[in-house]
Amino acid sequence: MYILPSVLTIIPLQSAKIEAPYISTEILSVIESVKQIGKKSLIFYSRRGNARAWICADCGHYEKCPHCDIAFAYHTTPNKCLICHQCSQVAPFPIVCPECSGSRINPVWVGIQQIEDNLIKHLTNDMVILRIDSDTGKKATVLYDKINTSDIIITTQIGNSIVHPGIWAVIWLSFELNMSIPSYHIEEDIYNEISYYKKQGLPLYIQTYTPDHPLLREIIEGNTKSFLSYLSRERIDFRYPPFAELVTIRVHDEQQKKVEDIMRKLINKIGLLKKSSTFFAFDTDIRERCGGEWQQKIILKDRDLSYILTNLEVEIVRNRSVTLEWS
Ligand SMILES: [Zn+2]
Ligand SMILES: [Zn+2]
Repeated sequence: MYILPSVLTIIPLQSAKIEAPYISTEILSVIESVKQIGKKSLIFYSRRGNARAWICADCGHYEKCPHCDIAFAYHTTPNKCLICHQCSQVAPFPIVCPECSGSRINPVWVGIQQIEDNLIKHLTNDMVILRIDSDTGKKATVLYDKINTSDIIITTQIGNSIVHPGIWAVIWLSFELNMSIPSYHIEEDIYNEISYYKKQGLPLYIQTYTPDHPLLREIIEGNTKSFLSYLSRERIDFRYPPFAELVTIRVHDEQQKKVEDIMRKLINKIGLLKKSSTFFAFDTDIRERCGGEWQQKIILKDRDLSYILTNLEVEIVRNRSVTLEWS
């Protein structure tokens, strides 16, 4: 079998001709020509229905939490502000972009449905679009049959590679939107995903505000060793695994007061046990989970957390309202 060498095209969003949010004329013509040869386009658009990303429309900048190096999420209650979903740090929502001083720093409200509607509106040929998100059934055989009868596949899922011999072009509508997913391993997920399709030899298209982003450079050059050292530097700086331990302690119960009592005890005890090197943060507000339980969390990061956790055995192990997550 002969595999075509993949061609990676970076489309700078500032200079591209845009027909609708995140839909450039270049992308539309790629989809049209793929359809003409009887093949399919795979599109990644990572904004999920309830995700609260925000990106500067002029330069693609988004703010990151200074402790966690992950993107802040946009919240409107109690006030318009930015919140780190990992450590609960709150920052004011900027009036102008801290990077380019532009004023177009609105939250991204464009959902996947709107992308789908705009594609239908701007494409000249009639095309069948298949949307894959968390609501779509995950059964591989069902999915395969659905892809068979589609021209365009749009997915919100990162790191969940979609394989089908009919897929001919792979498109990322916004590199920044992917990067703004609040997860410390998002860069690794994006690198792996793009590298996977690169190895398939398919033409790849990435739309971005930041064509010079160091991660994009690593992706273009495809040097895994150099990417890993880039990743290591970030993880050392922000104390992430494997260079440190990251533990989330979740306190949850149907009774709000019980959650608050347990949290108070844990916070006091950890405050006494922690070293100066320990990163220690916790939720200041309490949220109701869908299961009817109230929830608050504590985040701990350090090279070794055993000195804290062994002293919390009674509070953690013997309590069904406390769950421990290691990363
Ligand atoms: Zn900007
Ligand atoms: Zn944070």
